Amino acid sequence: MAYNNDGGQGDFQPQTYKGNWKCSKCNGEITELRFEPDPGRLNQLLCLNCFREKKRTSGGGQPFRR
Ligand SMILES: [Zn+2]
Repeated sequence: MAYNNDGGQGDFQPQTYKGNWKCSKCNGEITELRFEPDPGRLNQLLCLNCFREKKRTSGGGQPFRR
């Protein structure tokens, strides 16, 4: 993994990764990711829409439930 990042700036800018991927669900184009795509999971990527939907419908990951 080539990382050309010479830190030094104290900015908290969210890092985005530009590229050209495909959503594994809706087949839509993904041109930007908020995380570094795992080369081994490029075929499991989800676009923002599908990602949100999945998060909402799965409802998992909630430690507290009332
Ligand atoms: Zn999608």
